[in-house]
Amino acid sequence: MPGVVIGVDVGGTTVRVARVDDVGRITARRAFPSHAEEASLPADEAFEQFIFRLVGAIRELLGGSADAPGSCVVGIAVPGPVDTTTETVRRCTNLSFLNGRTLGGVIAARTGIEVVLMTDIAAAARAEQAAIGAESGRFGHLRFGTGIGYVEFDGLIPVELLRDGDAHLDVLRAGSAFAQVCVCGLSGCLEAYLPSSWHDEERRNWTAEAAAAFETVVLRLRRRLGGEGVLVIGGGRSTADRHLAQRIDGLAAEGEMPGQSRVRRAVCGDDAGVLGAASVARGMLERRRARL
Ligand SMILES: [Zn+2]
Repeated sequence: MPGVVIGVDVGGTTVRVARVDDVGRITARRAFPSHAEEASLPADEAFEQFIFRLVGAIRELLGGSADAPGSCVVGIAVPGPVDTTTETVRRCTNLSFLNGRTLGGVIAARTGIEVVLMTDIAAAARAEQAAIGAESGRFGHLRFGTGIGYVEFDGLIPVELLRDGDAHLDVLRAGSAFAQVCVCGLSGCLEAYLPSSWHDEERRNWTAEAAAAFETVVLRLRRRLGGEGVLVIGGGRSTADRHLAQRIDGLAAEGEMPGQSRVRRAVCGDDAGVLGAASVARGMLERRRARL
């Protein structure tokens, strides 16, 4: 009997929950608002309400399969860093009631099934990698969402990337020619030139400097990945921001460049999080069965 895999994508406004079959298709889905109905609720109550809704959605999607917990697994993607050894959310800027919570453990305890916690960017990257069939070789995913994230795989193995404490990743900094100070305290981060507060029309204007920072970082990533690699660029802002969208389309249309990876536009859209979370969780279920 195939295992039942549920992917959960905790977004800043919506939590998406989906049951995903063994070839990566969504067979059923649920969604609910990320925030408590009353924004003023204390963090403990907001967390309880969140857990109540999430457990309800998971149970609905499991249906009768909940009787065989050993063959079910849930992957949960959250918008911030996680501690994968304790299944704890380290920091979730937009959903502060999740900070420091052992989200994986709480869901596992209430549903009786195994949970894998991951960052949303890791989940999205896994979905994009699978969608374009780039599961061998070097693969990078640059994502413009609430913040700017990047993850890299060598085949299916995540590549450890350098960062200075909680500052932005070293590979997402444009270099010493870019002096703008970032919210993380460093200077030259791509985030400082293309800030997350892009809803603000004035800051969304692409300056020549912002464009140069973007080009510099993308070139750096393409050289890291090399001629055989693939760099997929995605996230909500990659289509909503006109300037960014045009530039990504331009890069994707380019021919091959010696020593540089190809650039592709992300294809999974809003489903990247649930598909990737399910894919990582399925990998865990399969490894566990292989041991039995
Ligand atoms: Zn920074």
